[in-house]
Amino acid sequence: MSAFIPHGALRALPRVDDLIFAARPEDPVLCLRPAVLAETARAFRRAFPGDTLYAVKCNPEPQVLRALWDGGVRHFDCASLGEVRLVRGLFPLAIIHFMHPIKARSAILESYAVHGVRDFVFDSAEELAKILAETNDATDLGLFVRLGLPKGSARYDLSGKFGAAPDVAAALLAAARPHAVTLGLSFHVGSQCMEPESYTRAMIMAGDTIRASGVAVEIVDVGGGFPVAYPDLSPPPLSAFMAAIARGYAQAGLAAGTRLWAEPGRALVAGGASLVVQVQARRDGMLFINDGVYGSLSDAGTPAFRFPVRALRASDAPLRDFAFFGPTCDSADVMHGPFPLPADMAEGDWIEIGQLGAYGACLGSNFNGFEAPRIEAVRDRPLLETAGLTTRRIRAA
Ligand SMILES: *Cc1c(COP(=O)(O)O)cnc(C)c1O
Repeated sequence: MSAFIPHGALRALPRVDDLIFAARPEDPVLCLRPAVLAETARAFRRAFPGDTLYAVKCNPEPQVLRALWDGGVRHFDCASLGEVRLVRGLFPLAIIHFMHPIKARSAILESYAVHGVRDFVFDSAEELAKILAETNDATDLGLFVRLGLPKGSARYDLSGKFGAAPDVAAALLAAARPHAVTLGLSFHVGSQCMEPESYTRAMIMAGDTIRASGVAVEIVDVGGGFPVAYPDLSPPPLSAFMAAIARGYAQAGLAAGTRLWAEPGRALVAGGASLVVQVQARRDGMLFINDGVYGSLSDAGTPAFRFPVRALRASDAPLRDFAFFGPTCDSADVMHGPFPLPADMAEGDWIEIGQLGAYGACLGSNFNGFEAPRIEAVRDRPLLETAGLTTRRIRAA
């Protein structure tokens, strides 16, 4: 197993505070934690009884992908040709799965013919026909039917757009069986799912669907959705989700030998990066900062995620709640938090915002002339630890 980053180099990485006070940056800085990313990948892979596919859309930054590779991740869940090309360019030996139910014909063709992708997901007969046509009726395909789920207890519902109803999914499994070397059923309980039982219920639905199909199915792919800690969200530990999946496996009546896959995004990477922003002005409880909802803080806007924050300057002032304005001219560029920080916050102060390894900088645009943050590798722990994922200490190298 090749390590991209020697352990000595990891120990030599700077701490966030030293980096910021030396460089005094007036632009936002994304502070990447390669050791945390690798350690989290190892923790998830140890806990999950099957293959771990990293959902690339959550953070496609090459340094992040390399850190996950260092943590043993070899499978990548891609949802676009761009992601497939990116992963193949970095890792000739990666196993790439194309898990978007609606694909351009040219994306299927190039993925199969050029990048060695064999696994494709679909949720309609039309998409299955497209996959078979573009691969020239290949005889080495892994075919995965995406099962739709009722809206559950996740912070982000992901069933509004994709997923076949159980009777349709059963018919699709039967239709795909003659064309598949590997046949699977996948689902997604929604992102930042706080309730382990959601996985148990979905597994039971998957079992019913497989029985109704009348054909053998090799893989149940439980998707992503595994949660991380935020200041107002303390999810059950990862072990509770794994136990719920094990209960689901037992209750679903799956054939012996049915294998499990998972497609975690947020859980693998959220703790692996933070964003350091600078205060450019203060008006009462509003801080004007140099990144916002059109940049790396999209989820702090309308989705109203409360990210963990800390001031870099030492202060004896008591904490008070602040809200943030982003740097663009749009008054929708606002983040209500609340974000507790020392009451004496002032222009020039730096703030570190945590849990931004997931759905952070990759959601940003260049709107209003503000560019993506520069990336620096650091040795700090996450701002907020997630039980079972990042609470383990980094082992001495
Ligand atoms: C977004 C997505 C994931 C990752 O979801 P997380 O909630 O970040 O774990 C996995 N699989 C599919 C199909 C997705 O669309």
